Amino acid sequence: MPMLGGIPGHPKSKVLLTGGTGFIASHILDHLLECGFDVVVTARSQAKGERILASIATSPNVVNSVGCKVTYAVVENIAEDGAFDEVIKTNLPLHYCIHTASPCQFSFLDPVNDCLLPAINGTVSLLSSLQEYASSSLLRAVLTSSSAAILNPPNHRPVYDESSWPDDQTLNWDLAADPNAPGDTTYRASKKFAEQAAWEFVEGNELSWDLATINNTYTFGPLPRSLDVKNAGEFKVNTSNERIADCLTGKWSQEIPRTAPVFTFVDVRDVAVAHVRAMTRPKAGGKRFYVVGGFFSNAQIAGVVHGLGRAKHQGREREVGNKGEEVEMCQECVNWDDFPENHWRFNNARSKNVLGLEYRSLEESVVDTVRSLREMGVGKGKPQIAGHGDPDEEIVPN
Ligand code: NDP
Repeated sequence: MPMLGGIPGHPKSKVLLTGGTGFIASHILDHLLECGFDVVVTARSQAKGERILASIATSPNVVNSVGCKVTYAVVENIAEDGAFDEVIKTNLPLHYCIHTASPCQFSFLDPVNDCLLPAINGTVSLLSSLQEYASSSLLRAVLTSSSAAILNPPNHRPVYDESSWPDDQTLNWDLAADPNAPGDTTYRASKKFAEQAAWEFVEGNELSWDLATINNTYTFGPLPRSLDVKNAGEFKVNTSNERIADCLTGKWSQEIPRTAPVFTFVDVRDVAVAHVRAMTRPKAGGKRFYVVGGFFSNAQIAGVVHGLGRAKHQGREREVGNKGEEVEMCQECVNWDDFPENHWRFNNARSKNVLGLEYRSLEESVVDTVRSLREMGVGKGKPQIAGHGDPDEEIVPN
C-alpha cells in the first residue's frame, strides 16, 4: 500500500479525521500535518470547526509543513443515518479515514442514545458511507477503539494482548443500557460493540480497502490547542486528563483518590503516531493494536507533580527538560501508592514491532500535561497534595 502523504513528487493524500475537537484527534491532526497529509476534520458546529482552523494557524507544525490543506465539515451527530455522506461526497478523493469521534465520558443520562448508538451507529454508518462513496480511492480506515475492548474486568487475564475481548457475561447490552449502570460500564460496552461492529462490517463486505484499530489505554498528555479557554462554560478538561487537573487544583489535598480500575497509561502523542503509522504501514492492515505505555497510579502522578514543584523550589527546574527525565518522583507521595500486588501485565509487542512505537515515560507525560494545563490557566494557585506538610513548596513551575 503506497504512502503518498509527505513523499516528494507524489500527489498529497487526503485524510478524513472525525471528532476534530477531541483531545486525541487534535494530536493526530498535528502529526498528520507533520507528515504532509491534507486533512478534512469533522466538528459538531461551525464555531468548533473555525476554532480548529484558528488553532492550527498558530501551530509550529503547520508552519513547518507548508502546503498542507486543512478544512472542516460539520457533522452534528454521528448517530444519525448517513451522518457522513455529505462530507465524504464533497471531499473526494479520500485516501484514508481516522475515526476518533465517540462519546468519551463515564456518566450518561440516557446510555443508549447518549453513548451506545453514537459509538456503534457512528462507526457502522461511517464505514458504509466510505464504502459507498470513497471506495475507489480509499486505502484504509483506522478506528480509535480502546483498551476497554480488550480488558475483561473483574476476571482479568494474567497478560493482555490484541487477542483478548471483554466476555459477554461481564459486558453485554443489558448491563450497558441500564440507566443505573455505572457510566464506565456503558462506555466500555460502547467501545467493545463499536469495534466488533467494525470488524463484522469488514468481514461482511468485499472491500478494496482495509481496517486497523488502535486500542489505546488511559491517555494523558497536552490539551488540544483548539479548546475554548476564553469561554469558561465550554472549556472542560478531557476525561482522562481530569485526574492530573484535579491533582493541580487541590482536589487531592485531603486524600489521593484510589486509582482503580485502570492502572495503565499512554501518552497522547504516542497514540497519535500509532494512528498515523497504522494508517500507512502495509503490515498494519487488518490488525488491532494494544497501545499502552506503562503502569501508573495516582500516587505516582502526585509524585511527579510534586517532584516538578520541588525542582522549581530548589532552582533546578531548568534541568527538567522536555522529556521530564530529571524529575525525581516525590517518595512521600509514592508511599500512598495503591498499585495492586499481582496486577495483570500487558504485551504491547505488536505496537512496537509493526508500528515502531517508542513509548514516553509517565514522568514526561505528566510533566507536559501539567505545563499544558498551566498554559490553559488550570491550577495556577498553590495546591497541596495530601501527605505533605510544607505549604511553601511551589507545586508547579511555569
Ligand atoms: P474527547 O471527548 O476529547 O473527544 C471526543 C470527540 O468525539 C469530540 O470531538 C466530540 O465532539 C466527538 N463526539 C462525541 N460524541 C459525538 C456525537 N454524538 N456526534 C459527533 N461527535 C461526537 O475524547 P478523546 O479525544 O479522549 O477520545 C477520542 C477517542 O479515543 C474516543 O473514541 C475514545 O473512546 C477513545 N479513547 C480515549 C481514551 C482516553 O483515555 N482519552 C482511551 C481509549 C480510547 P465535541 O467535542 O463537540 O463534543
